[in-house]
Amino acid sequence: MRTQVAIIGAGPAGLLLGQLLHKHGIDNVILERQTGEYVLSRIRAGVIEKVCIDLIDEAGVGARMHQDGLIHDGVQICVDGVRHRISFKDLTGKSVMVYGQTEITKDLMDGRAAIGAPTVYAAYDVALHNIFGETPHVTYRADGKNHELQCDFIAGCDGFHGISRKSVPPNAITAHERVYPLGWLGVLSDTPPVSEELIYVHHPLGFALCSMRSPTRSRYYIQCSLAEDVEAWPDERFWEELKPRLDDEARERLVTGPSIEKSIAPLRSFVAEPMRFGRLFLAGDAAHIVPPTGAKGLNLAASDVRYLSHAFIEHYKEKSNAGLDRYSERALARVWKAERFSWWMTMLLHKISDNTFEQKMQLAELDYLFRSKAASTAFAENYVGLPY
Ligand SMILES: Cc1cc2nc3c(=O)[nH]c(=O)nc-3n(C[C@H](O)[C@H](O)[C@H](O)COP(=O)(O)OP(=O)(O)OC[C@H]3O[C@@H](n4cnc5c(N)ncnc54)[C@H](O)[C@@H]3O)c2cc1C
Repeated sequence: MRTQVAIIGAGPAGLLLGQLLHKHGIDNVILERQTGEYVLSRIRAGVIEKVCIDLIDEAGVGARMHQDGLIHDGVQICVDGVRHRISFKDLTGKSVMVYGQTEITKDLMDGRAAIGAPTVYAAYDVALHNIFGETPHVTYRADGKNHELQCDFIAGCDGFHGISRKSVPPNAITAHERVYPLGWLGVLSDTPPVSEELIYVHHPLGFALCSMRSPTRSRYYIQCSLAEDVEAWPDERFWEELKPRLDDEARERLVTGPSIEKSIAPLRSFVAEPMRFGRLFLAGDAAHIVPPTGAKGLNLAASDVRYLSHAFIEHYKEKSNAGLDRYSERALARVWKAERFSWWMTMLLHKISDNTFEQKMQLAELDYLFRSKAASTAFAENYVGLPY
């Protein structure tokens, strides 16, 4: 088989890239290790920036997002039982949208099926070959047979645990990493959210987040240790741990119910540099990870795809390699700023240690954030997404 761009991974980065390339007449094949049902069962991001909304529109699959997505003009931060609101709209004129990653993935999968573009699900043992040469290719196993896919370029969109980044010689890549000593225990439930806006909670018991996917579906998180086992968290225990961290109004409005998903996500900051290796380009979580605190992971995957799709279009339509040559530098400039914001928000809101000096620093910074228009504006600018 031959294609122009072989895309590894059918997460949001791979599907979005595939759809945008197809729109511009650029052939692509997506190879995904999991089945389509499995990909759709993963509950992850929920907050999307304008960049992501615009790209989904550009890909032609935005109808359901505009119908069901919830526009959020601000966010609330609760410190020791007192809530403070930061208005994105007033401070930046912009908003974010709450629309689940699962829904985005479904819209992109449906869009891809409608145009008949090829995706190979359950593609095992994917291996990348000759990435620094003129004729790269990818081998894999599917339907019990071995296959070879020849291509001009490979887009590694296969997430943090994927094969693309691992295919690069160690001396060609530099990894920067910060692993936090904590995770998020998340519960999804078909109960109405406690608030119309997200509430980030700073509390002596630890961080919590009240989020949502729709007016009838809530997503809650509490900070937990990395040693926790999700099996040790029956629903009742989760709600009992969440309640004391909330303010009185949220506690009163909290509707508990059976969880429909429960998982623990470790918190990590990670960047691999560069993001281009010969004819292999990394995009999304394959190249970088942020802790979910700033809601940046999916949005960064989208901004990489924006740069990369434009670069491929420039290559094929205008016979120019300028975009491809600058891809890594341009993507990383935005990645590092989002890494900074996600790290800062994580350090600000979680109980990282029992050191009282660090706790006082968090409270002083939060007080400054609420009282200073400059500080609130900087927060809002980063949360809604920095310009290109
Ligand atoms: C609990 C949680 C909450 C989050 N909240 C937010 C949020 O609010 N906002 C936000 O922007 N981000 C958030 N994120 C991050 C966001 O989910 C990720 O950044 C996003 O999924 C990245 O998309 P991706 O396509 O790059 O990678 P992925 O979604 O990881 O997709 C990679 C795909 O590649 C496939 N793959 C892996 N290895 C191979 C292989 N060897 N061969 C073929 N295929 C392979 C995988 O099966 C997968 O389908 C959150 C993440 C978590 C865990």
